[in-house]
Amino acid sequence: MNNEQLKKIFAKNNQPAYRITQIRRAVFQAGISSFVEISTISKELREFLTKELDILSFSVKKILVAKDGFSIKALLELHDGFAIETVLLSSGIEKWSVCVSSQAGCVLNCQFCATGKNGFRRNLLAEEISDQVLFWRQYLKKEKGMDKISNIVYMGMGEPFLNWTEVKKSIEDLVDKNLFAFGSRSISISTAGITEGIILLAKEFPQVNLALSLHFATDEKRNKYMPVNNKYSLNDLKKALQDYFFKTNRQVFVEYIMLAGINDGETDAYELAKYLKSIGKRQLLHINLIRYNQTERGFEATSGNKVQIFKKYLENNGLSVSIRKSLGQEVFGACGQLAGK
Ligand code: SAH
Repeated sequence: MNNEQLKKIFAKNNQPAYRITQIRRAVFQAGISSFVEISTISKELREFLTKELDILSFSVKKILVAKDGFSIKALLELHDGFAIETVLLSSGIEKWSVCVSSQAGCVLNCQFCATGKNGFRRNLLAEEISDQVLFWRQYLKKEKGMDKISNIVYMGMGEPFLNWTEVKKSIEDLVDKNLFAFGSRSISISTAGITEGIILLAKEFPQVNLALSLHFATDEKRNKYMPVNNKYSLNDLKKALQDYFFKTNRQVFVEYIMLAGINDGETDAYELAKYLKSIGKRQLLHINLIRYNQTERGFEATSGNKVQIFKKYLENNGLSVSIRKSLGQEVFGACGQLAGK
């Protein structure tokens, strides 16, 4: 919901300011789906707001629920007709994570990712980003009578650091005590490696988590599969991470998709360990080995056994590693599968 618009409407209609707080609480914290549900304001005001203001800045076109109920994807249509996706995921303990898109489409064209294949449409506005969280809050309230959103991850469509102005505003709304009231530490931003963004995050939101989609540990391979590396090389990334550690002393999550025959061999493990160790703060790096989710772009996932060998090699080099469980594959809502269909 656009807060500025709400303020303007109020200013025009001589409504007392405390009403804004009541309305914001109802929308952002109680998760009401329509102004009609706000019983603490007059009927006239409810009707007036319904006429003047949309709670969500998009319409919901489709909701796909996986059989186990733990991953749910929504296809959203923006005012200008572009489609984005958002995903609600749970690891099964009644705690939910919301994965938000920051752009419609993506310019980066990573070769293994479904989003990049269809190109870039436009940047999302802050409210189009935070409304994805609002939408899931409403959904959980309606479907399950509760709201247990514990994490927000910027791992949907798009590159958050290429839309920093709006992403920044959306984070401000998410942590605002009068709005969503999330803790900074429950928010994570994932980047394909835009170094300016990493530096800005350290400065402006040192408590927000950083994930880096590394996936390849030599420039040769990274250039080939992640064109962004032609602009921001592994050496540039190293410097940005060193700056990040210096400013925040916080852990960084290094994402590494395992692609059969491409980046999962012994040499790759060697290069990865060498690169990560060269950054200098081994204890602040945590590597997530990710299963490749099927997309139209080909590639095969590395077998479980090989992933274990890769993990052991990194651990023997003093690195901390997890194998990340993939959620959302069935609804094509897993990482890299968001194509706006
Ligand atoms: N542009 C940002 C945000 C997108 S996050 C970034 O790149 O980090 C999406 C995550 O899913 C990234 O880590 C991305 O590399 C990963 N990903 C892309 N395609 C994938 C696939 N097919 N299987 C598994 N993970 C994938």
